[in-house]
Amino acid sequence: MKNSYWVVAVVLLGVSCCFIQVVDSSPGDSDSLYKTCVEQCKNTGCVGENCFQHFRFSSDGVSADGKWYMQEPLYLRWKQWDCQSDCRYHCMLDREQERENLGKAPVKYHGKWPFKRVFGIQEPVSVAFSAFNLAMQFHGWLSFFLLLCYKLPLRPETRKPYYEFSGLWHIYGLLAMNSWFWSAVFHSRDVDLTEKIDYSAAVALLGFSLILAFLRTFNVRHEASRVMISAPLLAFITTHILYLNFYQLDYVASCSMVIGSPLLSGLYLITPELCLICIWLAECWNMKVCVVMGVTQLLLWAVWAGVTRHPSRWKLWVVVVGGGLAMLLEIYDFPPYMGFVDAHALWHLTTIPLTYLWWSFIKDDAEFRTSELVKKVK
Ligand SMILES: [Zn+2]
Repeated sequence: MKNSYWVVAVVLLGVSCCFIQVVDSSPGDSDSLYKTCVEQCKNTGCVGENCFQHFRFSSDGVSADGKWYMQEPLYLRWKQWDCQSDCRYHCMLDREQERENLGKAPVKYHGKWPFKRVFGIQEPVSVAFSAFNLAMQFHGWLSFFLLLCYKLPLRPETRKPYYEFSGLWHIYGLLAMNSWFWSAVFHSRDVDLTEKIDYSAAVALLGFSLILAFLRTFNVRHEASRVMISAPLLAFITTHILYLNFYQLDYVASCSMVIGSPLLSGLYLITPELCLICIWLAECWNMKVCVVMGVTQLLLWAVWAGVTRHPSRWKLWVVVVGGGLAMLLEIYDFPPYMGFVDAHALWHLTTIPLTYLWWSFIKDDAEFRTSELVKKVK
């Protein structure tokens, strides 16, 4: 009996983690009315009374009669605003309107909720919140920079800040701004390339902030120990980013290979639980890596805030609890309200005040450490 609970728990975990993974087939696009609409649209260039004027161009940007002056402008090609995308979008809107009239709830299409575009931007609310986050990170980093260089005393011999973690926080600031920039790009146009850059930037930021959490909470100040702690983590993060970009392409194939392998089938007969763990690990690997890195750093900061006598530890508490609650929004996935605001957009909203508080903690930490070190020198 105990065993079966275990299996259920593992399966539930596996299923819940996959909510966020983009899947190719969803209830919306397996609907026959939707399929017919897309097929018709591809032939006629029209959905109902809505016809697209750029439809004469094929998806690679060359017109049907192949003349060079008939080519689509480059920026349009980059946006990949091709027929298929337009057909899918307008058929989805049509179907969703019909479903709404029948009192039915929205469904996903090609792994995504039905969002309404604004000026060609796919998820305008997430784009706006990503831009706010970017601005907040810039504001935090700039005020940290000004504090260190102009307000706090510098070491007399080297003219450098007393605070030992300043360089690390500068790198953190740059990685965070980079990540939010690509998040805004990804939410405005979701294609394979923008998705990969966004994921890679987010993993780089998450990985680096984990290293920083280790170094700061254990107060690692010597260069050699810092290298010893960060080298294995850096190696892992780099490998993971390479895997995301060059291996996960074949996600479905690799997953079915793992499940279909004779070793795992044999294992399944002996210990079903162990096999389920293997399958579970192979699925949505990126999600798990991110959750483990995120939870580890939240725990590190929470424990540290509990034992330290840092004057600004309450800020850490708020960020840790707020960050944990915000993570729930990523797990509790609901359809976009009015076609605009979904759980993911709200998650981006919650990180705006948390970012403000986080940089405020970093600045307090710089002030606190500097005053301690100055006292020691005197
Ligand atoms: Zn996002």
